Amino acid sequence: MLEMKSACENCQQALAQKAEAYICSYECTFCRSCTDNFDTICPNCDGLLTRRPPRPAPRADSSSTASLGE
Ligand SMILES: [Zn+2]
Ligand SMILES: [Zn+2]
Repeated sequence: MLEMKSACENCQQALAQKAEAYICSYECTFCRSCTDNFDTICPNCDGLLTRRPPRPAPRADSSSTASLGE
């Protein structure tokens, strides 16, 4: 349910799927202005924040059998 975060974790600003957003390798998600404030370093896990691709990544990890059928 929370695979694709749709809001900045810092300021709760809504992030549309096509909006510019930044994620770290642990999928912490932030808006651009917060990312700028953080110097592109995730405040949660010190990971590098990178631009989230405009389209959701294909679900490659079928190993995680969280919930089939959405
Ligand atoms: Zn933000
Ligand atoms: Zn993080």
